[in-house]
Amino acid sequence: MHEFSAACSIVEAAVQAAETHDVKRVTAVNVEVGEFTFLIPEQLEFNFEIASKKTILEGARLNIKKVRGRIKCQQCRHEGEAQVQDEIPSQVAMFAPMKCPKCQSSATMITGGKDFVITNIEAEVVAP
Ligand SMILES: [Zn+2]
Repeated sequence: MHEFSAACSIVEAAVQAAETHDVKRVTAVNVEVGEFTFLIPEQLEFNFEIASKKTILEGARLNIKKVRGRIKCQQCRHEGEAQVQDEIPSQVAMFAPMKCPKCQSSATMITGGKDFVITNIEAEVVAP
């Protein structure tokens, strides 16, 4: 349940942020999800809905922005966006080394796109 634990940590962080800002109701949570998290957006949304039940986030939208993964080649020192083939199922891609687009070497390091972050939260604030 990869998506469920991700959804729970998003909910946890958003609830904490909401509590420190006197928020009445959260309407949307915007997140950036790295390509190498291999989180499936639809699954993440679905699990967010479950995880946010009975919290201040209940009914809030989860807006997901995908961020491309980045790799660094140890062979030719090329650094840039990873070329993930769409035909490869994510479960396979997770274990397959990323090929360098310049020299085709498999000696690459993932340098970005392994995380997901909350970029901002839209909310209704309690009127003074
Ligand atoms: Zn290379």
